[in-house]
Amino acid sequence: MASTDSSAATIPTVHLVGAGPGDAGLLTRRGEALLVAADVVLADALVGSDVLALASPDAEIVTRTHAATDAPGTRETNQQALIARMIAEAKAGRRVVRLKGGDPSIFGRGTEEADALLAAGVPVEVVPGVTAAIAASGLSGIPLTHRDHAGAVCFVTGHDAGRRRDGIDWAALAAFPGTRVFYMGRGRLRKIAAALIAHGLPPDTPAAVVSKAATSDQRTVCGAAATIADDCAAADLPGPAVLLVGGTATAPGARGWWERRPLHGVAVAMISAGMPDGVEDRLRNAGADIHDLQLLATWYDRDQAEFDAALDALGPGDAIAFTSKNGVGGFHVGLFHKERDVREFCGVRFACVGPSTAESLRLSLHLNADLVPEEYSAEQLAAALAPHVTGKKVLWPTCPEAKSTLADRLTEAGADVRRVHVYRQEPATELPADFAAKLDAGNVDWALIASGNLARTFAELSKDSPGRDGLKVAAISENVATAGREAGLNVAAVAADATWDGLVEAVCDAAVSEARGAEQV
Ligand code: SAH
Repeated sequence: MASTDSSAATIPTVHLVGAGPGDAGLLTRRGEALLVAADVVLADALVGSDVLALASPDAEIVTRTHAATDAPGTRETNQQALIARMIAEAKAGRRVVRLKGGDPSIFGRGTEEADALLAAGVPVEVVPGVTAAIAASGLSGIPLTHRDHAGAVCFVTGHDAGRRRDGIDWAALAAFPGTRVFYMGRGRLRKIAAALIAHGLPPDTPAAVVSKAATSDQRTVCGAAATIADDCAAADLPGPAVLLVGGTATAPGARGWWERRPLHGVAVAMISAGMPDGVEDRLRNAGADIHDLQLLATWYDRDQAEFDAALDALGPGDAIAFTSKNGVGGFHVGLFHKERDVREFCGVRFACVGPSTAESLRLSLHLNADLVPEEYSAEQLAAALAPHVTGKKVLWPTCPEAKSTLADRLTEAGADVRRVHVYRQEPATELPADFAAKLDAGNVDWALIASGNLARTFAELSKDSPGRDGLKVAAISENVATAGREAGLNVAAVAADATWDGLVEAVCDAAVSEARGAEQV
């Protein structure tokens, strides 16, 4: 019967949302919409940080870190406290999302939580999630069903496997006509395999373990029921993991696409002062575990009178040169500060150091660059502009920290260069703590660096890290590579065309040839 409590109607529904196995791309759209709107998010330990990052910045996020270290009984106490908290938050009118790894109802105690909430008069909705077995299957390339090899699939808890009264019908499982997927069994592989074999499973039945499915650390080990525990021990395979036993659990070859992505398992730090859209997605799709390091705080700042005077002095045939997107942004702000508009630039030529700077000029001011050099560096920009600016004025909106290369070369070419500062940059004084810890432990593989200034800043901030020697740097251009080497960084790849796309490609190529080299050894 429905609750007759008249206050129930005013209590917001608590959503038990399946967060999927790790990767935020595997969260349902319904789950994401609820997460974005939640006031309070109560998450299990297994929920991926990318999923949590989708919550509103104003939301209160409570994560649980329960693990093997829990004292006896603590987990139960925590569970009761968590349910009490959900009830209290909902009754206080807050929108609660309870995020559970995988699917809430598969070995997730979701039903117990739902029943407790309903008993307290709190409405509940469950949003399904991609459970670990399904993710592990799809991303490892090992199917759960197959017309020839598996006409059924079952999910089994391995939590108590091998204990005296484990409640598992091993004879039924040994005879099961399909794929058995064991959850919570990483520490009990030997016991699970032995029990199945003791109850009649042929020891050479294919078996596979997929560890950390749907993360950049996913690994799959394939073998036979009799050997899988040893194989996983030899591979030092960590949990969480699922064990698959049955005819389909053979090496997936080319079907194992997730682990075959060029940057799978590669930790990449992106060191830039703002990347074009799409770069992060390209790296992520290639499998990289990404750290976006903002090592420079950037803000627009100028002497308006100086800026206005420099603009007033420009006439037909003069030029404005941009060496960064920030230069375009700062110029834009300076221009509209006094309600000037782009008609003033009739006959003025615009030059940009590269395509993304040109794109931001087009998007922000609707002006097409007249000139973009074939190679994207200040030297090449100067070389391309030089023949056109003898005796002309060139306005260069930049920041105080920029090297004077452009101005020097153009002055040599006979131009009257006006350098105006339209933005400022201040380097960070330390690396973010979580990144520093990862670097110290030698767990960062690549740093992608987009400017000489950033190369120097990063080199300075990382110089005492024991993990720095093993870190490979990919530089966006030869100039940045030189700056990196001079600062003591190990520059191992350079973009062929000085663009972010080129930089991503250079790292993918280097990682692929490195992996090939490792296979041949
Ligand atoms: N509700 C979850 C399961 C919770 S039980 C779900 O539907 O997936 C915890 C067990 O799930 C782990 O011991 C492990 O067996 C499995 N698991 C969870 N996340 C996993 C992952 N990313 N890769 C492999 N196994 C995972």
